[in-house]
Amino acid sequence: MNIHEYQAKALLKSFGAPVADGVPLLDASDAPAAADKLGGPVWVVKSQIHAGGRGKGKFKELGPDAKGGVRLAFSKDEVLSHVGEMLGNTLVTKQTGPAGKQVNRLYLEDGADIESELYCSILVNRETGKVSFVASTEGGMDIEAVAEETPEKIHTIDVDVETGVDDATVAKLNAAFELTGAAAEDGKSLFPILYKAFTEKDMSLLEINPLIVMKDGHLRVLDAKVSFDGNALFRHPDVMELRDKTEEDEKEIEASKYDLAYVALDGDIGCMVNGAGLAMATMDIIKLYGKEPANFLDVGGGATTEKVTAAFKIITADPNVKGILVNIFGGIMRCDVIAEGVVQAVKDVGLQVPLVVRLEGTKVEEGKAIINSSGLNVIAADDLDDAAQKIVKAVG
Ligand code: GDP
Ligand code: MG
Repeated sequence: MNIHEYQAKALLKSFGAPVADGVPLLDASDAPAAADKLGGPVWVVKSQIHAGGRGKGKFKELGPDAKGGVRLAFSKDEVLSHVGEMLGNTLVTKQTGPAGKQVNRLYLEDGADIESELYCSILVNRETGKVSFVASTEGGMDIEAVAEETPEKIHTIDVDVETGVDDATVAKLNAAFELTGAAAEDGKSLFPILYKAFTEKDMSLLEINPLIVMKDGHLRVLDAKVSFDGNALFRHPDVMELRDKTEEDEKEIEASKYDLAYVALDGDIGCMVNGAGLAMATMDIIKLYGKEPANFLDVGGGATTEKVTAAFKIITADPNVKGILVNIFGGIMRCDVIAEGVVQAVKDVGLQVPLVVRLEGTKVEEGKAIINSSGLNVIAADDLDDAAQKIVKAVG
């Protein structure tokens, strides 16, 4: 689960991290009081959407010459004119895709005097099995380009689970960021704070880009992106309250009600699969035969007919879906349950696109019999390869 920048900053502030004063805005009429409260002389008006690249983003409604989704203002009037232009309009960034995202919230912040911009993130490092800091002196808006062109400028620093961020880790981080003086002193407290927030709140990613050194020599968190581990959310009701469903895909919200592991994608072949590994393999093989999957969907091991029906409805409700591939290897999952779910869902919502079904494993004969006697127009497939070729051909 992702949250907004202003929420992430409030959370980090509660752990003691240095962030600027700021006021979230949902309504333009609250802007004058917010501007007065912060006092200036420099404000930053920041679009709050669950996507990065806002600074270089463009508002659809404003044309290519208008300013981006993060704007400096040097007077109260300028604050108000930015707020008026940004709120309610659609911001397109590298991460939103061409459709962009409507900006329903802004964050008005005290402007900082920047000396340098650093990149700092914490993530779960699957290669080392540890939590790692990723550190670079080349922060700001183009970290992807740094990773591609000058990867030696990006340092990965593992944290020992037993000791946490100790003095030795701080020293490595300060060296990687080339911090000296007041900034290096700030690092001694900031890096343990960030690690504490990451682990206590079960984050899967904490990305600060940029972490800045200000003209006065001190560190400040200037941007913050936080993702939480969905499987640990039950431990954090305070975090769950930060969820902004308007930022999430409707299909994914519906899927989460049924506890389905579902991720919407851009392709046109809907997939219903059991097991994350088989789901990934199914997506791969669809690509191999020249098409793109419309989703990742793992119905899980012990899915009920009701859950399978819900999954099938979510797939068919996606207007991008031009064909559906059901690929089930029944181990714990029973093929007859899948078949009943599919038949039930088609009865409820109809079937406008070709459907290829490959069933194998537990109760496969019963499953095939249910499909065959249902009168559904189903293309049967024998194995994964056959199934992928058949759905790609059927979609054309
Ligand atoms: P992003 O584009 O979505 O990553 O948004 P950021 O919050 O990272 O802001 C983009 C850029 O705006 C930063 O890299 C800074 O260069 C600039 N910026 C943001 N806040 C301030 C500020 O308080 N003062 C100044 N001078 N620049 C800022
Ligand atoms: Mg940023």
